[in-house]
Amino acid sequence: MLDGISKSNGASTLETVTTTPITRDEIADASARLEGQSPETILRWGVERYFPRLTMATAFGAEGCCIIHMLAPIEPRVRIFNLETGYQFPETMQVRERIKDRYGIEVELVTPDTTVAEYEEEHGGPLYAINPDQCCFDRKKRPLVRALAGYEAWISAIRADQTKHRARADVVQWDGKFNLAKLNPLLNWTRNDVWSFILKHEIPYNPLHDQGYPSIGCWPCTRAVAIGEDERAGRWAGTDKKECGLHVIEHEGGSGI
Ligand code: SF4
Repeated sequence: MLDGISKSNGASTLETVTTTPITRDEIADASARLEGQSPETILRWGVERYFPRLTMATAFGAEGCCIIHMLAPIEPRVRIFNLETGYQFPETMQVRERIKDRYGIEVELVTPDTTVAEYEEEHGGPLYAINPDQCCFDRKKRPLVRALAGYEAWISAIRADQTKHRARADVVQWDGKFNLAKLNPLLNWTRNDVWSFILKHEIPYNPLHDQGYPSIGCWPCTRAVAIGEDERAGRWAGTDKKECGLHVIEHEGGSGI
C-alpha cells in the first residue's frame, strides 16, 4: 500500500520476495536525491531497491539501447521486454538479436492476445489508420498491463525534452496508470547525450535512425522526418497523437500529465 494508493501484487510470475512497502515519501526523497545523478547511479539505486521486482520495457530506441548497455554490468538479470505489436519494423527486431549477441540479454517479446491477421479480420481491416488509440490500447497497453503484473518498478527511456508530457516527469515517480514506481534514468539527457554515448561505446542501435527516423514505433505509424522537423514528428504524422499513452503519467487523482 502506498499511503492511500492501493497496489495490486500479482506476483505469480515472480519468486516470493519480501520487500519493504513503497511509500510516497520514499519516492519523493529518492527522486530529489537522484535528480542530477548519472543514469548509472539511478539504475543502481533501482536495482538495489527493487530487483527482482524491477523490469524494463524497450522499443529498441536509441535511449533504450543506452540503458541496456548500462544495466548489463549492474544487473543483467533484470527482465527486459518489448511490446511486439506485430507491426514493428524488421530492423527493430534485428536490434534484439544484436543486443543478445553483445550482452547475452534476451529481450522478452510480449505479444497481444491476437495476431495481426486475427486482429485485422476481427475489425474488418487494420485499426491503426482509423482508430490508432484503440489499436495502441489493444496491442500495447493491454499487453503492458499484463507484463507489469507483480513488479514494483519499471524503467523507462523517456527524455524530458521529447514531449510536453515527458517534460513533467520526475527521475523517480509513482506511475498511477500502472500502479508501480517508474524510473526515468535518462530524463535529463539530450538527444546529443544519447548519440555521444552510443558512438563512444559502439552500442547496437536501429539502422533506421541513420535513414531519417529519430523516433521509431510501428511501421504504419512512423515515417522519416525532414531536417528541422521535431524528432517525434514522424510518429502518427498528420494526427494530433504524439504518444501511445504508455508514458503519460496519471498521478493519484488520475489526472494525466
Ligand atoms: S503505433 Fe500504430 S500500429 Fe502500433 S499499436 Fe499503435 S496504432 Fe497500432
